[in-house]
Order: sequence, then C-alpha cells, then structure tokens
Amino acid sequence: MTTVAAYAAPAAKAPLERTTIERRPVGEHDVLIDIKFAGICHSDIHQVREGWGQAIFPMVPGHEIAGVVSQVGSGVTKYQVGDRVGVGCMVDSCRECENCKAGHEQYCTGGNVMTYNGIGKDGQPTYGGYSEKIVVDEDFVVRIPDGIELDVAAPLLCAGITTYSPLKHWNAGPGKKVAVLGMGGLGHMAVKLAHALGAEVTVLSQSLRKKDDGLKLGADHYHATSDPATFEQLRGTFDLIVSTVSAPLDFGAYLSLLKTDGALVNVGAPEEPISLNLFSLIGGRKTLAGSSIGSIRETQEMLDFCAEHGIGAEIELIGAAEINDAYERVLDSDVRYRFVIDTATI
Ligand SMILES: [Zn+2]
Ligand SMILES: [Zn+2]
Repeated sequence: MTTVAAYAAPAAKAPLERTTIERRPVGEHDVLIDIKFAGICHSDIHQVREGWGQAIFPMVPGHEIAGVVSQVGSGVTKYQVGDRVGVGCMVDSCRECENCKAGHEQYCTGGNVMTYNGIGKDGQPTYGGYSEKIVVDEDFVVRIPDGIELDVAAPLLCAGITTYSPLKHWNAGPGKKVAVLGMGGLGHMAVKLAHALGAEVTVLSQSLRKKDDGLKLGADHYHATSDPATFEQLRGTFDLIVSTVSAPLDFGAYLSLLKTDGALVNVGAPEEPISLNLFSLIGGRKTLAGSSIGSIRETQEMLDFCAEHGIGAEIELIGAAEINDAYERVLDSDVRYRFVIDTATI
C-alpha cells in the first residue's frame, strides 16, 4: 500500500480537508499515476452533499484526472513510465455483460466501478482525483496526446466525453444545426466540440451574460431562453439539442425547437421526475433521450480529436486550499468554465 495526501470530505456536506489515504499496491495490470491536475465537476458537489442519495465517507472526489505514469505492473502493455495519461468517471466494469463486450463499459449492466464513491473489485472504497497519486487498471486509463496541456485536458475526462459522445452518436457535423442548452462546464465543451465537428452551433442560455464567450468558443448564434421570442423565432430549427442543465425544464417548449426526426438529448438531469405531453414527440417523430459519459475507446477518440483541433477546456486553476470556496462558486455559476486543482498544492 502507498500512503498519499488527498483532500476529502469526512462526512456528508462537511467541508473538504487535507488527509491521507491508502492506494492499493500496483497489480499486474495496474499503472500508478502521479496526478498533476484534477477538475472540479458539478457532480463532485452533488455527491459530497449526498444530493444523489447515500454516499461513502470519507470521500475523495475527482473524476477528471490528468497525470503522468510513474510505475507499471508486470503485465501492463499499453503504458510506460513517463506517459501522459487521464482517468475519467470509471475505473473498472464487469467486463462480461453485453455492453462491456460491445465496448460500452459506461452502460455496464453488471455495474461499473466509479472512480470515487464506489466499491472496487477488491471490496475497498474508491477514492478520486483530489489526491497525489492513483492506481488504475490500464484498461481504464487513456492517453493524453502531446498537443494538449495537462491542466486543460483534465476536464475533458468528464465534461469533454459527456458532450462528445452524444454529439457523435446523433451525428453532429456539417449541415446539422445543433443547440447547446446551458453554458457551464459541460455546455462550453459542447460548443467547442460541436463547432469542431462542423455543425452550426446555437447556445441557448438563460441570459445573454456569456454571449461573447459563447461566440468566441465557436457558437454561431446565441439566444436567451428567458426571452419568449426565442421560442417563436427558433421553432422547428434544430436537428439536435444537447441539454446540459439539471434544473427543471419545460421539455415541451424545447422539443418544439426540433425539426422532424430531431432529438433532445439530456446529459444533465433534474432531480425530480418530469411531466410531458407526448404529443410534443408524436407530432414530428421526435426523440427525447439521455446519454452518460462515453466508453474508454470513445474517450480516447475524443482526446485525439481535441488534440487535432487544439481543443482544451477553459479553466481557472486553483490550489487545493481553495476547493471549498470553488464549490460555492460552482453553485453560484461563477466559474468560466471549469475549476482545475493543481494537485502539487495538496
Ligand atoms: Zn463529472
Ligand atoms: Zn459489464
């Protein structure tokens, strides 16, 4: 076992504080990663505060991990010491179910092992990226191409893949009109990626406060959803809407913005169930769908795509002592657009 420094929440809703945790010995197929940067995802805050149900404490959040390999197990074939690598939302899966066999580990029906707030196959709780080092099976590690700095790469491991996967699955590309709903950590990545994929991109945000940023990041149009005229003007416009918001929405109103055969895909979700008049789907053969992160193969594809197109996240780099303040600012939507922890400060 290796003892490493980390930032952990000792109990639900408690502030995070510096502590130490044990990492498992490096197994035959494991790599030891010196973590350099860890992004702060909104879901870290949900889980620390038990917003998604009972959680495991102490909790070391962090599933946007970028670092460098410092040791490899005897059976490791994909990575060498010194490689720049990333770890996202999952660190293992059953590997036997239909989805795992098809390379869709994110939809493992046997239950995948989450990077933190999960239980590993060794029966021990998993701890995430707000720490100095992590041990991960090489099959759940991805390579960060040289073309992307590690700090702006970290958020790609959740915010990047969560938006890239539905954009690819629903064929965002030349000739397609894509709307991105919400202009936060996920939304700003969706704008960059959809633009790089060749789609015509529209941001739908509550206000026009971030309009200049949105246009700079690659949006062609920017509309405020607080303005009823937006819904009149854009009726029947989009092939695809990717919703990154977790606040309750009038889904019927957003479905009316789709063309025939269009899809509204949710990567964020309100905590409460929604009510929907299904005629808003029937009249126009529309789809209301969801999507969760992406597979390991697709995460690698996304990183390679980002390197090719010079894409990283827009970040505010912070020291570990600022994590609790950063959480408050995320809750106030006061970040442009992702906090990233410099783990050398832990
Ligand atoms: Zn996340
Ligand atoms: Zn599985």
